[in-house]
Parts: sequence; structure tokens; C-alpha cells
Amino acid sequence: MISLWMEQVSHYPVRPSLQHDLDVDVVIIGAGFTGLWTAYYLNQAQPELSIAILEAKQVGYGASGRNGGWLMGEIAGADDLLRPLAKEDRLASHHLIHDIPDEVARVCAHENIQCDLRKGGVLYCASRYPEQVENIHKQLAQHKQDDYSDDDFRWLNETQLQQQLKMDKAKGALYSPHVATIQPAKLAKGLAQVLEQKGVQIFENTPVKTWQSGQVTTAEHSVNAQWVVPAVEAYGSLLKPMDKYQLAVHSMIIATEPLSEEMWQSIGLDKGQAFSESSRLVSYGQRSADNRLVFGARGGYNFGGRLRPDVTLTEKEMAVRLYLMQECFPQLKDVKITHAWGGNLALPRRFHPHMLCDRKNRIALSGGYVGEGVGATNLAGRTLADLILNKDTLHTRQPWVLNNKPLSALRQWEPEPLRWITYKATNLMLIYEDKVLADLSSPKWKRKLVSKLCDILEGFLS
Ligand SMILES: Cc1cc2nc3c(=O)[nH]c(=O)nc-3n(C[C@H](O)[C@H](O)[C@H](O)COP(=O)(O)OP(=O)(O)OC[C@H]3O[C@@H](n4cnc5c(N)ncnc54)[C@H](O)[C@@H]3O)c2cc1C
Repeated sequence: MISLWMEQVSHYPVRPSLQHDLDVDVVIIGAGFTGLWTAYYLNQAQPELSIAILEAKQVGYGASGRNGGWLMGEIAGADDLLRPLAKEDRLASHHLIHDIPDEVARVCAHENIQCDLRKGGVLYCASRYPEQVENIHKQLAQHKQDDYSDDDFRWLNETQLQQQLKMDKAKGALYSPHVATIQPAKLAKGLAQVLEQKGVQIFENTPVKTWQSGQVTTAEHSVNAQWVVPAVEAYGSLLKPMDKYQLAVHSMIIATEPLSEEMWQSIGLDKGQAFSESSRLVSYGQRSADNRLVFGARGGYNFGGRLRPDVTLTEKEMAVRLYLMQECFPQLKDVKITHAWGGNLALPRRFHPHMLCDRKNRIALSGGYVGEGVGATNLAGRTLADLILNKDTLHTRQPWVLNNKPLSALRQWEPEPLRWITYKATNLMLIYEDKVLADLSSPKWKRKLVSKLCDILEGFLS
């Protein structure tokens, strides 16, 4: 089982692999959201373009078919890049980003893709220790400085939060309306089907071995193309030279059995809201369309960026997620966990998004989603399509766009063992910080000291 989501779409037939050489206008490596959205918007703009997608396994096999289903109208790291812009331009960018869930909803309605999309916003709850309230207020102050309004981010007090979500001991939450939840594998499979109907060729079980300007090769065949789009995110660690720019890390999820209506009345989440308990363990949850609680948290890093092909959680990984989930909802102590899985995602060296077009070598790619790519890939698809078609649009004028730049314009990660040491040390420290803060008897000096150390370690990584 790849994930609960992929299990629910296992009735989709597997497509044939590439059995011959091919000449196309655009070849895309990888059938996750980046590849699929790029193909979609290219086809919308110029239906006569010939496009082929080569997928190593199956559509949605990567992070796109395994994630928490938060479709965010936010882009990690974007604010740092937007800060130097004039206010008017910054507000236009905010609008572009916030509109992502609505754009996805428009495409799904237009193309009749059913992916359980519900736009209920997101609740970053402060429930487990007092520092969470302080941190949320710091974030809100920063959002104000960045010209976001109360319509974008606001504090909900305990009573207001309870109307949406009853999380144990929650003192309030940071709320934003610009997030929807989806069943991500349904979106990936649905998009792929639409693309095929429009003439895009998709080959599954077709791993690309090498790629270069104008050509990609598999074990037996080659595809010549005007443009090459490597859209492999964390799997770049297996596809040189992408491995230099991506730190492939893991995130892991558990899902309960479908819960009773009575249980849901004790929790809430009746509008498709996404939620988090807003600690540095980066937890994320949603109520699935079939009434399960789906709950994930950040995972680890393997030496050398080795991916986790297996999706089974160790006892320890399972225990962390169970602990966090039951801290938030003690009433779930005896429910059955029917699914648990993990996946690979990529961190860029500066934690900033990038959408890059090397016009000389006709290569276009995007990334830097930092575990928040479900929405960002839609904007990336639109942007890469405009870049490939050499259009000057609001998409291509954003500060994360590197137009006419080679791949080497991206900052590289330090070599091993530095990556491993830093990531491991940070992860261990974050787990320790969580323990100290969750123990309300920990002295103030200790709470401050561990949090400061975590800030410093996170600073090295970003
Ligand atoms: C557990 C987990 C939870 C997450 N939760 C969220 C969330 O709730 N919200 C959010 O916004 N983001 C979330 N993310 C991140 C988000 O899922 C990703 O950023 C996004 O799906 C990336 O899409 P992608 O198309 O770029 O990459 P992927 O979906 O990983 O697709 C890459 C594809 O390329 C294929 N491929 C790799 N190598 C080759 C090759 N050599 N030849 C051919 N094909 C190849 C892979 O098989 C794969 O299908 C989560 C990620 C994980 C792992």
C-alpha cells in the first residue's frame, strides 16, 4: 500500500510503459502534481503541442499521492522574497497565491474531477504549551508587517475555535481561509485522465535514466524533445544533477478507521478544515471524506539523501504520531489506526520556492515547496507553461521565477556528512524541545534555552 489515498484509487488501470523512441515538443519526467499541472496548462494554452509524461512507477506514486491533502493558498518561503517588492506588487502576489485553491476548484469543476475538495480554511491551534500562543501572535505581527489583512490571517479565541474544532486544552488558533482539503490521489489520477483525453501521452513504469538538453533516455528508448521538464521533486536525489539541490526528507501519516458521527461531534471539522497543533514537529491533519482522521508529522533524513521506498512506519515513528494525535484528541485513544504511510519530499537549500527556465538549454523546472507543494505545484504548472511559451505574465514576474537562468543558479546543499549531521541534530533537538515544552513543570530558563538552540539549528538549514 502506497497510502490510504492511493488505495482508494487502485481501480485506475495501469498505463503501458514506453515501448519505442519518441519525438515530442515537451517531455516531462514524473507524473506528480508538478508534471501534471505543467502539462495541463501547456495543453490549455497550445493544444497542438505534443507532450509526453514519463513516470517511473505510476501517476501519483510520489508525494502527490501520499500527502496530507492540504491544498494551500500559501507558499513556503514566499514572504521573504516578496518583502522587498512595492506594496502594490506584493498584494498582487498575495492574491495570486491565495487564489490557488479556487483555481484548482475551477479546473476540477470544469474538467469534472472529483477529489473531495472542500475549502474550510486552516486552523493552527495552540493547545499543548503556552509558547504556542506566543509564537502565533509573533507570526500574526509578521503577517501584519507583510501587509496581510485580518481576512487572510486572524486569531480565533477559545470559543471561536471551538465552533470549528474542539482540540483538547486549545487556547485559540491562527486561522486562514485560504486552504482547502482534498483527496490528493484522486486529483492526480483525475488530472492524468483529463490530460490523456486531451492528447497528452503518459507512460507509466518508465523510469528515466538520464536527461539532458533536448533528450531523455530510459533503459531501452529515448525521447527527443524541444523542452525537457524534470518534475521529480525528492526523487531528484536519484536523478543527477538534481541531487545537489534537493534534500530529500520524509514525512509520515496515520489514518484512523472511519469515525462515528458522535465522535465527530466531539471533534468538529465539519467544513473540510485543515488543522495543525502548531509545534515544530509540523503536524497536519484533516477529516477525510469517508470520516477518518488523517494525521501526519515531520519525519527524518537518510544519509546521502537516500529515499524511503518502503512506506512502513517503525514503532517509534508510529508512536510519535499516535502521541501527538491523542494529545490533541484524547477521545481517539481506542480507535483503530487502519493506515500508516510515509513519503519523500524535498527541501531546497534556502527554503525558498523556485520556478526556473533555462532558455538556452530549453529546460524548465520548479521546486522548493518545503513540504507544501500541493497548492504550489498548481502555480508552478501555470508558471512553467508561461515560461516555456515565452509569455510575460503575472506568473513569470514573481520573485521566485528564475528566467533565463541555468540550473546552477540554484544554491547547492553542503556535501555529506554535513547534511546528515545538521539534519539529525536538528530533528533530535526539535523532539527534545517538544518534550521540554509539553512538560509544563519545565523551568522557564530551560524552555527558553532549548527553543533558542532550535532556532539556531533551523537557521543553519534555511
Ligand atoms: C507524507 C507527506 C505529506 C505531505 N503533506 C502535504 C500537504 O498536506 N500539503 C502540501 O501542500 N504538501 C504536502 N506534502 C508535499 C507535497 O505532497 C509535494 O510537495 C508535492 O506533491 C510535490 O509534487 P511533485 O510532482 O513535484 O513531486 P512528486 O509527487 O514526488 O512526483 C514526482 C514523480 O516523479 C516520478 N519519478 C521520480 N524519478 C523518476 C524518473 N527517474 N523517471 C520517471 N519518473 C520519475 C516519481 O515516481 C513521482 O511520481 C507532503 C509530502 C509528503 C511526503
